[in-house]
Amino acid sequence: MTTHRLISVVIPVFDERDSLEELAAELLPVMESLGPPYEVIFVDDGSRDGGDAVMADLARRHEHVRVVCLRSNFGKGAALTAGFREARGDVVITIDADLQDDPAEIPRLLEALDEGADLVSGWKQKRNDPMNKTVPSRIFNGVARKASGVELHDLNCGFKAYRADVVRALAIPGEMYRFIPVIAASEGFRVTEVPVNHRARRHGKSKYGFERYVRGLLDLITISFVGRYRHRPMHFFGGFGLLLFLAGVAISIYLTIVKILGEAIGGRPLLILGVLLIVVGIQLFTIGLVSELIQRGRMRSEDDEAASRIERVIGG
Ligand code: UDP
Ligand code: MG
Repeated sequence: MTTHRLISVVIPVFDERDSLEELAAELLPVMESLGPPYEVIFVDDGSRDGGDAVMADLARRHEHVRVVCLRSNFGKGAALTAGFREARGDVVITIDADLQDDPAEIPRLLEALDEGADLVSGWKQKRNDPMNKTVPSRIFNGVARKASGVELHDLNCGFKAYRADVVRALAIPGEMYRFIPVIAASEGFRVTEVPVNHRARRHGKSKYGFERYVRGLLDLITISFVGRYRHRPMHFFGGFGLLLFLAGVAISIYLTIVKILGEAIGGRPLLILGVLLIVVGIQLFTIGLVSELIQRGRMRSEDDEAASRIERVIGG
């Protein structure tokens, strides 16, 4: 039994026509059985397979179902951000549309929230995906755990439950959705995980191919940055820049003294190194300054951008 006032379920959807009816048939009875009022928000991320008609139909037939239609395919991150804006619940659950996440696990996610967590992440302990996905994912999660200090086995799991203030307070910009647990933890929210049943994809195909690996690699770099330096990029770039700059200045002073003592320095490799360190140092320092300025303006504009992508809302 949960104590929540309104539970919002946000479902990012891109070309999942054949899964939608089945998903609704599984999800709605689970939501009914919970007790508190709920809303189900399908975010149509520019589907081109006719799934939009299926979702509109679901919204017509079920009073708790709404569809947020984005103008075009903006990616899962944008879909989630739009859904978070639209959600009115004090608890927000995200679940993939492809039936890989089992709606029957929702009560267990909510239980963990009731026990005091602010964010509960699903953990696909026994994952029903091909090897080329599970093995890189294990490596990714292992390194991410070390880099971020957040003890989750399955950072990227799309099946999560949040206290609404987590998604609202953090105003997670688009593609940063993959780091929500890391950002939330760094903001002092309590992050936990619950093992969830994971099923093989039945209809349609995965939206991510090879670029998954490239993205994962870049994500690891981002992850070690966001937790620690997100709010103070100057401490990262500036510190590093200052170090290089000072080393360059030291070299230049040394060479100046050598020159004054009468030795030629024009042909010395050290001269190039000194100049390079000064230039790169100033560059990093400047990047740090600019990042600080951007960091201040960012949150608000991301929110506005998400709003501008919504074309219309059906039902509700
Ligand atoms: N998705 C989306 N927009 C996109 C790509 C994916 O809304 O541009 C949705 C997709 O419909 C699904 C979820 O994000 O509900 C996860 O996508 P997928 O199952 O392809 O990812 P995987 O399970 O392979 O990681
Ligand atoms: Mg999937």
